[in-house]
Amino acid sequence: MASNLTLTILKPDCVRKGITGEVTKRIQEAGFKIKAMKMTRLTKQTAGGFYEVHRERPFFGELTDFMSSGPCVPMLLEKENAVADFRKLIGATDPAEAEEGTIRKAFADSKGENIVHGSDSDENALIEASYFFSQAEIVANEV
Ligand code: ADP
Ligand code: MG
Repeated sequence: MASNLTLTILKPDCVRKGITGEVTKRIQEAGFKIKAMKMTRLTKQTAGGFYEVHRERPFFGELTDFMSSGPCVPMLLEKENAVADFRKLIGATDPAEAEEGTIRKAFADSKGENIVHGSDSDENALIEASYFFSQAEIVANEV
């Protein structure tokens, strides 16, 4: 069954640049509803757990250093076709390859420091959501 949820993290570079508001506005204007949101700081270890699939990649140390370098803002987002539509909104991993109008094209400095995370599948969106949010932290259906 297709899910309508995706997990994003406004990464430490986004927070350092003071553009969490601007990026969140773009996300909401693209039709995503925020179901959960917090500011937190990952440790190198918890960042490593989140990016477990990349543990053997050469950039893993750099990635976990960066993701634990300051606060970040994970959010659970809801929209029809959330995973694919969000990845379209943020653009390619490397901002140099990202399309005009995407968040990474507009704000990211490099392939490593690329402003936002986006889940790559419905299954991973749920796994990633549970990494940051308990059931009680996710808002119920709209009133
Ligand atoms: P995406 O975030 O677009 O799904 P990946 O899942 O491939 O990209 O990689 C996870 C994160 O690891 C990227 O967003 C980026 O921060 C970092 N990363 C990926 N490839 C590299 C690389 N070649 N050098 C440095 N950091 C990288
Ligand atoms: Mg990925």
